[in-house]
Amino acid sequence: MKEAELREVCKCILCGNKIMHDGLPLFWRVRVERYGLKADAIGRQQGLSVLIGHAQLAQVMGPDEDMAEKFFSIEVTICETCGSERSLSAAALAEVGDTEAPKPKPKSGVQKLPGVIEEDEE
Ligand SMILES: [Zn+2]
Repeated sequence: MKEAELREVCKCILCGNKIMHDGLPLFWRVRVERYGLKADAIGRQQGLSVLIGHAQLAQVMGPDEDMAEKFFSIEVTICETCGSERSLSAAALAEVGDTEAPKPKPKSGVQKLPGVIEEDEE
């Protein structure tokens, strides 16, 4: 990680302090991704499996389509103290990280979603 990137990610999303505030030269970068299963694709694959009578054969003969779709992905920084002492669910971590992460500017004509907070330019 180069200096510019380190400067962008140097703040812990849980305590708000900069990394190394506890004196330890370690920190965490955690990626939280949320997926939804595609019931229609799973149903098709399962149907093919039943029709052929063998799951692994159906896997090779099927369309090999995506069975899950990514809804959300965020990468957050956590200081060494919070990373070793705090306990947080993946959903809570994603929520905290989402409010800290800069949002992409909406394109013209795109409605702003409720709850999305725009950060001021510094
Ligand atoms: Zn922290």
